Order: sequence, then structure tokens, then C-alpha cells
Amino acid sequence: MKIETLAVHAGRKVDPATGAVAQPIHLSTTFERDPDGRWPRGFTYSREENPNRDSLEYCLAALEGGRRALAFASGLAVVTAVVQGMEPGDHLLFPDDVYYGLRRLVGEVFEKWRIDAGFVDMTDLEAVRAAIKPTTRLVWVETPSNPLLKICDLAGIAAIARQANAISICDGTFTTPVLQRPLDFGIDMVMHSTTKYIGGHSDVVGGALITRSDNYLFERCRKSQRTGGAIPSPFDCWLTRRGIDTLPLRVKTQSANAARIADFLVQHKAVEQVNYPGLAAHPRHELAAKQMAGGFGGMVSFHVKGGRKEAMEAAARMRLFIRATSLGGTHSLIEHRASVEGPKSKTPQNLLRASIGIEHSDDLIADLDQALTS
Ligand SMILES: *Cc1c(COP(=O)(O)O)cnc(C)c1O
Repeated sequence: MKIETLAVHAGRKVDPATGAVAQPIHLSTTFERDPDGRWPRGFTYSREENPNRDSLEYCLAALEGGRRALAFASGLAVVTAVVQGMEPGDHLLFPDDVYYGLRRLVGEVFEKWRIDAGFVDMTDLEAVRAAIKPTTRLVWVETPSNPLLKICDLAGIAAIARQANAISICDGTFTTPVLQRPLDFGIDMVMHSTTKYIGGHSDVVGGALITRSDNYLFERCRKSQRTGGAIPSPFDCWLTRRGIDTLPLRVKTQSANAARIADFLVQHKAVEQVNYPGLAAHPRHELAAKQMAGGFGGMVSFHVKGGRKEAMEAAARMRLFIRATSLGGTHSLIEHRASVEGPKSKTPQNLLRASIGIEHSDDLIADLDQALTS
């Protein structure tokens, strides 16, 4: 089945008890046992499993073409479970421009753990190969990267990881399975912050891990989810699953809007550089076209002529674009990334990152034009 159909149907059915077409929200924390002590309906206690979480997990696995999925309380709760699943002394390899929250988690929360975290330019396969150690057990990839929209070679990285007997995980938050399916390129597992495009309305925080096949790390993450307890609530699962119904429609519109906006920004005289993998001038445009079969995404970043002051002032003049962090909602957001990431950020001070929404692109372009021209 095609993704538009799966997004509507996977993991949901008419409620057999009432005929309700919209899924009921199962708030019950506990489930009845049979007289013989068994739980024949499959549910015991909601930390372990819940009908709304089951539905969401089934749907996410179907969308990614994976075998199984786990829903977590946030994207970073997935990363926490993954790191906790490693052995002391294991080497974990991350992109040098990895999502800053992941770097902070690994650096600050897991500081006292005996893990060996390395950071490398993931766009350079030779550098990745050179960074592999005999102890490397995890290779993490994010493409397009945040906020510079750099493109990494998924098949190349999957092959290097496999040869090293390491598990490869792709952070698929920016693309969603509508645009790019990392498992099709040999990546072992996909992670999502469902807070972003998958939930899609900026009203629910969540995370997910989807695996292509059974492996020890996925099993440990499952244990961490159920026994460690970083689970999403039934209502969170319901909202996220409801958001998925329109995921293909939203992402395709956001992608088309972003492509038009990138073209507009390229020729604007107040703009120095535009980062968007859909531009023919992007250094990895052809690789992006191969991997991002569904489109180049709704994220655009650009460098305003001048410095931090000029970028902040342009953001301050926006009327439709909301100045806020995060991404993937129906409404367009703009953010001065360096000041969100803090003093250690390597993001250029004149860079603005835009998450393009589903508004009409004419209105978004008019807003950008007045903000950049004033
Ligand atoms: C937001 C984000 C995360 C973290 O997810 P949370 O749901 O905020 O915990 C991870 N990776 C990327 C690319 C993100 O944008």
C-alpha cells in the first residue's frame, strides 16, 4: 500500500465495542485478568502496553517499512534508551553537526558513563571509515543535517557500520518516511522526534524508534521503554496517531512551499547564502534527489547579509513567521539558531532557520520580503 493510505489506515480500526470511527482514548492504567489469571486481550498495565501506543507503534513501523516500532515520551528519550543499551567502553560515532540536544545529552547526562562518544564529518565517507574503532557499536546519521542541511550518504554509512559490526541509526525527524525511508538504504533503525512533522501541530512531544529487523539494541530499548518508563501518555499517542492521517499532505505542501521560498531567497539581495538540498547549487543535490524520493523537505536555512544584528532584526520584523524554536508544524516558524543553541554553538551568527508551514507560499514570500527589505 502507498504511504497516503497507510497514514490513514495503519494501526486503526472501527472500535468493535461501540462502532466509533474515531479511535477511543484508553486512559485505563490497568486491565482485567481472566479467572485463570491470564490477560487474553494482551494488555496488563499501561506502562507495559496500551492500545493507543500499540496503534501508534504499528502505524510508525508500517510507514517506515520496518518490522517493529517503539513510541517514547520524547525524541531524546529514544536517544537515552539507545545510549543506555550500549556496553561500557563501546564507541559511539555521531555526526560533528548532530542535533545539539543529542550532543548535550551525551556530553552532560552521560558524562560519568564509560561510553566513548566520537564526532566526525558524516558527509565524508573516508573520514567516517577512519573514525571507526574495533569498539564502534553505533553509527548515528542525520540527513539533511540541522541547521545547515548537509546531506550524508545513507547507503555508504550503512555499509561502513555493517562492516564494523555496528548498528546504524538515522535520525529521520527532518524528512519523515514521506520523503526518505532510511531502512531502504540499509540503515538498521530510524529514530524520530515525533514532536515535529509526525505530530505536526506543535501540540505533543514524543519520540519513536523503528527497526528493520530484530536486534539486541532494539530489544534493550524495548526493555528500557517498558521497565524504564519513558512512555508517552495514551492521549499523546492518540494525538500523534491523529496527526499522521494528514502527514503526507502536510509534508508534500511544506516541501513544495520550501522549494519556492528557497528559489525566492536565492535571488534576494539581503541574503548571502541559502541552504536547501532542493537547489541545484546545493553541493549534494544529486545525492539528495536519490535519497529524498518524496521531496526536499520543509526546512530552509539562510545567511542574512551582515551579522547577528541583521539576522535578529529580520526575524523581529516577521509577521506570519512565528519566532520560536522547533519545526514541522502547520504554521511557519523562524529562529535565530545560534542563540537557541547557546554560547558553544558553531552555527553562523547570521543564520536564520525556517520551518515552512502549510500556509500559501505567496503570503510567506511576501512576509520574508518585507522583513528582509525593511
Ligand atoms: C527536536 C529534535 C530531536 C529531539 O526530540 P525531542 O522530541 O525534542 O526530545 C532530535 N533530533 C532532531 C533532528 C530534532 O529536531
